[in-house]
Amino acid sequence: MDPTRRLETRQGDITQLSVDAIVNAANQTLKGGGGVDGAIHRAAGPELLAECRTLGGCPTGEARLTRGYRLPARYVIHTVGPVYRGRPEDPRLLANCYTNSLILARDHGICSIAFPAISCGVYGYPIDEACKIAVDTCAAFITANEAIEKIVFMLFSDKDLAVYSQYLKNHAG
Ligand code: ADP
Repeated sequence: MDPTRRLETRQGDITQLSVDAIVNAANQTLKGGGGVDGAIHRAAGPELLAECRTLGGCPTGEARLTRGYRLPARYVIHTVGPVYRGRPEDPRLLANCYTNSLILARDHGICSIAFPAISCGVYGYPIDEACKIAVDTCAAFITANEAIEKIVFMLFSDKDLAVYSQYLKNHAG
């Protein structure tokens, strides 16, 4: 089966999704923040922050797994995207966020996972560049890993949804 059929775009609040794991665009402290990070912590409840505090932070491009607590998702995978400073920072760092999150997912028997647009909020990554990295990296991983049944790209804005949907359409040919 075409692996891109297991990639899906949706629009809305990632905290509402009933998937095995949602991914958090966290910061290196893992102690919460604004944007999607704040939304996930508010929805999961204080137990999430308590578990995050035991992890000792997370370097850029790496990922850490916690439980989902009050979220519909069983797990949260916290990853730290690169900050974009006016030019493409090493694109491998953003790709690493996706790959390392998916490795954790696979190793914990997670079959369905949802990503926000990592680094595309306050970290400033242009959505077009980030979208290519996200889709290409996830498509490569899912091709090699049959156990991951579904990857959802959960976009917040109409524009971001349109960028992802268009790229995914072209990618699938
Ligand atoms: P970063 O620091 O990695 O840039 P942000 O949280 O600032 O992270 O933004 C990442 C993306 O998540 C942005 O595109 C933002 O619009 C989006 N976002 C914010 N809240 C939510 C949410 N509740 N669900 C899904 N996406 C969200």
